Amino acid sequence: MNIHEYQAKEIFRKHGIPIPPGEIAITAEEAESIAMSYGGTVVVKAQVHAGGRGKAGGVKLAKTPEEAKKVARDILKLKIKDLPVQKVLVTPAADIATEAYAGIIVDRASKKAVFMVSPAGGIDIEEVAAKTPDKILRHAVDPRYGLQGFEAMQLGFFLYKDVKQARAAAKILQQLYAAFVASGASLAEINPLVTTPTGEVIALDAKMVVDDNELDRLPEIAALRDESSEERSEVAAREANLTFIKLDGNVGCVVNGAGLAMATMDLVKYYGGEPANFLDIGGSSNPEKVVNALRIITSDPNVKAILFNIFGGITRTDDVANGIVTAIKENPLKVPLVIRLTGTNEEIALKILTENGLSAMTDMDEAVKKAVALATGSKVA
Ligand code: GDP
Ligand code: MN
Repeated sequence: MNIHEYQAKEIFRKHGIPIPPGEIAITAEEAESIAMSYGGTVVVKAQVHAGGRGKAGGVKLAKTPEEAKKVARDILKLKIKDLPVQKVLVTPAADIATEAYAGIIVDRASKKAVFMVSPAGGIDIEEVAAKTPDKILRHAVDPRYGLQGFEAMQLGFFLYKDVKQARAAAKILQQLYAAFVASGASLAEINPLVTTPTGEVIALDAKMVVDDNELDRLPEIAALRDESSEERSEVAAREANLTFIKLDGNVGCVVNGAGLAMATMDLVKYYGGEPANFLDIGGSSNPEKVVNALRIITSDPNVKAILFNIFGGITRTDDVANGIVTAIKENPLKVPLVIRLTGTNEEIALKILTENGLSAMTDMDEAVKKAVALATGSKVA
């Protein structure tokens, strides 16, 4: 789950990280009056679940309340990576001497939380990693002990030569780690972590991604979800209990089991196609899940062909077949459908499908090739 910058800042502040104050506005006038209450220059920042807001025109300095109103009006009209901006954060502008990066991610290989810090912050950290990897220091944390003081100091000195600043950074990194653990996060990031001309170290941006599997035990964090800022299809899928991730391709995929869904996406790419989504209808299917899945996939105008790949174990393929038939009766398909199914009750499933004018294949390779060909308009090999 993504949360907004202002929400992440709230959490970081609770853990002691120095962050300038800020307030949320949903209209240009509100932004103006917040700017007025702070006096001086403010920063108006789009609150959307997308990175690179600065580059997209979603972060603007405003010297006067009138200017804050104007830039807020512009930003509230923006779409950043397809997501409409509905809120802005208004915060007093800090004077910046240097910009650094500090982040923590869960590293699957080492099975640990890994810190990444770089004195070259403020811009895309991916670019720093690609072009000047020696400007990034990585450090895996032993979950039994957390980030120890001496480790934090090592990271602090990688960021700053000045002892006082290195110490301030070390403290912030330990606070960031505490926030990360307490929130069930899979990512926590400060970019930029700045020094001011007077030598203070403060966080000007905050990003946090929460592991969905932590939400049940962390109701306060779960309550931070802002559905109006999420991809609509992903919200619908969550409500229908489907694991769904929207992608940019044109082959809609309905698969049972996460592993098979990944393999299906790999194969779609292998045969020159691009998956439109990841979708796992789960082990124990019922027809309703299939109906919901098809509704979500067909609402994506990019989808040019739909591929079912069902390996019936606990999943009964006749349930899936019934779901497909019901869904199509409710809402006739406008794009071609390729069904591959084998396993539990496949004879019954085939009968249901053929009685309703549909057909199914048993070979996964053939089915994927056919779906890709239909989506791209090329000949079936
Ligand atoms: P992002 O582009 O979505 O990561 O948004 P950021 O909050 O990181 O802002 C992008 C850039 O705007 C930063 O790297 C800073 O250079 C600048 N910026 C953000 N806040 C301030 C501020 O308070 N004062 C000044 N002078 N610049 C700021
Ligand atoms: Mn940033």
